[in-house]
Order: sequence, then C-alpha cells, then structure tokens
Amino acid sequence: MTKMPSTDEILTKDAHLIQSFANLDALKQADARTAIVGADGVHVIDSEGNRLLDGIGGLWCVNVGHKRREIIDAITEQLETLDYYSTFYNFTHPKAAALAAKVASLAPGNLNRVHFGNSGSVANDSAVRMLHHYFNRLGKPKKKKVLSRHGAYHGSTHLAMAMTTPAYSDGWDTAADGLVHHLMEPCHYHRTDPEMTEAEFLDVLIEDARKAIHDIGPENIACFIAEPIQGAGGVLVAPDGYNKAMRELTAENEIKYIADEVVTAFGRLGAMFASQDVFGMTPDIITTAKGLTSGYQPLSATIIDDEIYEVISEPGAMFLHGMTYSGHPAAAAAALANIEIMEREDIPGRVKTTGKQFETGLKGLIDLDIVGDVRGSHFMIGLEFVRDKATRTPFEADANVGMAVAQHCQKRGLVARALGNSLILSPTLVMTPEQIDVVVGTVGESIRATMADLGR
Ligand code: PLP
Repeated sequence: MTKMPSTDEILTKDAHLIQSFANLDALKQADARTAIVGADGVHVIDSEGNRLLDGIGGLWCVNVGHKRREIIDAITEQLETLDYYSTFYNFTHPKAAALAAKVASLAPGNLNRVHFGNSGSVANDSAVRMLHHYFNRLGKPKKKKVLSRHGAYHGSTHLAMAMTTPAYSDGWDTAADGLVHHLMEPCHYHRTDPEMTEAEFLDVLIEDARKAIHDIGPENIACFIAEPIQGAGGVLVAPDGYNKAMRELTAENEIKYIADEVVTAFGRLGAMFASQDVFGMTPDIITTAKGLTSGYQPLSATIIDDEIYEVISEPGAMFLHGMTYSGHPAAAAAALANIEIMEREDIPGRVKTTGKQFETGLKGLIDLDIVGDVRGSHFMIGLEFVRDKATRTPFEADANVGMAVAQHCQKRGLVARALGNSLILSPTLVMTPEQIDVVVGTVGESIRATMADLGR
C-alpha cells in the first residue's frame, strides 16, 4: 500500500492542477482547496482525516455509494481479461454488447440502440450529431437548430456548452453561433409576475416554445434538449405537465426530443429512467452518464429509438462518429455490476421512500428566514437563499451565501455544493433514515449559523 501524502504535499503539487468551474484566483489560497483521499459507503475522507457525509454523491453520480466491492472486482477482472479494445469499425467486445442490451431493456419505449461515450457532454454532442445526420439522410438538411432552455446544463464541450444556459459561459465563447435557441427558464419560483399560478406559468412556457418554433420555422429545427429537472442550473423544476406538453408540441412539429438524463437516471428520482416512469413521456433520445457506473468509471450513453436507428443504418449510410473509449471494457463492466446492485437491492424502489424522507426533511427548512425556495425531488434538492422572502428579492450575485452555508456544512461533517446563492444536495442513494436526518439537521444548523453571520 502506498503511503498517503500529507495535505501540504498534495496541495503543493495541486498548484499545477486546473480545477473545473472554479475561481482559480481564489484557489491560490492554500486552504481554499479540500483534498479528498478516501471514500467508503456514504462518506468521504479528507486529507486531514475528517470523515464527511457525501451530500453531493461525488458530483451527482455515486448512486450506489462508495467502495462497492462488486464494482471494484468487476473492473479488475475485466482489466485482467481484456484491458482495452475499441468498438470502432467491425469490433465489439462482450461487456459493451451486454451493457448495450441491458440499457436498451431498461430504457422506455423503442429506445433500443445505444452509443457509448465517456461523459455527459459527449453524450449530448453525440445526440445532436446523430440527429443532424438523420435529417440529412431524410433529405431535410435545413433541420439543424436546437431548442434548449435558460437554466439548462448540458456539459462543457463546445456544443454542449452552447446548449447550456448562457449564464454558464459568461466571458467565454460557445460554438455553433446561432445554432441554439434558448427558451424561457421553466422555474415557477423565478416567474416575473408574483400572482401567476403554476398552471398559468405552464401556458406561458408552452406559448414561448410555440412562438420560437413558429419564428424559427419547424423546418429549421432538429431537436429540443431538456433535463427532466434542471440540475446544475439550480434544481429548477418545471410546472406539472410541462415535459409531457413539450413532448406533444415537439412531436407535432417533427422536432426530436432529447431527454438529458445524465443526472435523473439510475435511481436519483426513484426510477431507472425518469422520463416515462416519473414524467409520463417517452422521448426520441435519452442521454445518460453519471449514475450509469455510479462514477466508478467514466461512461455515458446516447440511447436512440428504432426509427432514428433505421434511418442512420440504411444501406449506404456511414456512422462517422465515435470516441476511442466508447464502451471501454472496464467502464462497461463497472456499469453492469452497478446496475446489478441497483436491481438486486431495488435502489430505485428504496429511493421512493428514503428520497421522499430527504425531500420532505429539506422542504421543512422553508420556514427559515433566508430560505426562499426548496425545490426538487427525492435525492435531487436545491435550496435558494434570498434577502427578502416576501418579495423574493435575491441576495446580490456576489454575496455567495451558498458558499457560506456549504462551509458551515463542511465544518459540521457534510459536503454540500454551493451554487451562487443556492445550495445543492444530491447524495448517494443508500443513506439510512438516520443518516438522512443527520443531513437535514446539519443543513438546518448551517443555515442558522449563516444567518447569525449575516446578523439575521
Ligand atoms: N447533462 C447534465 C444534466 C449534467 O448535469 C451534466 C454534468 O453535470 C452533463 C450533462 C455533463 O456531463 P459531464 O460532466 O460528464 O460531461
């Protein structure tokens, strides 16, 4: 066993590492970084030896919990049998094939064909590339534009970031100028008219989409991409019936619907896939990653329906797309072992109870003075902090109240994620009811401590 380096040793070398989505200048302060050196079950361990409850499941991904022996063994065994081979040209291998069949069996409707990538960003880029090719083959080469939404997060590659809310690329450029049109953010709490009911807001959202389709022209639009619940935008939940209504509207206009289930699949909302089981609609494509391997290996999937597959696999068509690590054997083995655990332990079924306890507990914090809204479902929850609750007046953008609460959480043994003036929780799906109570209690205490710091 190699000796664990000290915090100082780690952080000295870490000066060469560029963290993602970080204020790099602020991270030049040595104590601004946390080195995680180990993990076990629902906990992670930092370089100072602190055992912390992992309230963000790695990054919304460690669904079955850390250090699951079967997944580690499946990866090791696979590397000993076949370390690497590609799924390019005419090659395949047993684990990629078995995983594609397994994913197809879990996905709703006719979503039976699976292309693998190595990140959620790539899964989303792949979906759009495939649809562009699909419409080319149908003799509709003008059908290229993408409808996305403010508040969305679809990844960090050039195209995925172009589909993400513009708020995420402030000061950066995104690719595909003019390719993406952003519809309204669908979160009822952020509506401009305080009197507007959720049902009225739904009408406004659908009208916004209808108008965009009319103005751009359906003959120019390839697809609509949407997370069933927007995650990294702040856990933004659309009004009841929105996903289904958008499904109908897009189908009427021959616009393909890509459900970005990078976060919502594999148990987080109590179902293997949320589109059909939670939101009652079947899209044309589902993209997923994260919980597919519970983060043990990088892997994503773009799952397309039979009709799209028929067109892109016609005689004469060439599938000119793929990544070296598409369906990597060790990643596919990890995913198969991960799904086996989920099915054997009925993790989605358990989440229906434990996730509800988590959701109800955190929603109970709404009475605190700075908590404006608590949104989300099951193990995907966001708390938004506001200066004035009655008027929904936000804190200043640089107030960083989310970070203040997250730091109080960490001091109390819980990792939570700050997002501006919000706090996000997306833990492993295997916490006991007692551990859930601890998380809820710790978040409550941390908000109270932050309020005291703010003189409230
Ligand atoms: N889509 C959603 C909904 C996500 O939350 C994320 C990442 O958080 C992505 C796509 C991008 O995934 P990745 O970071 O694996 O590229």
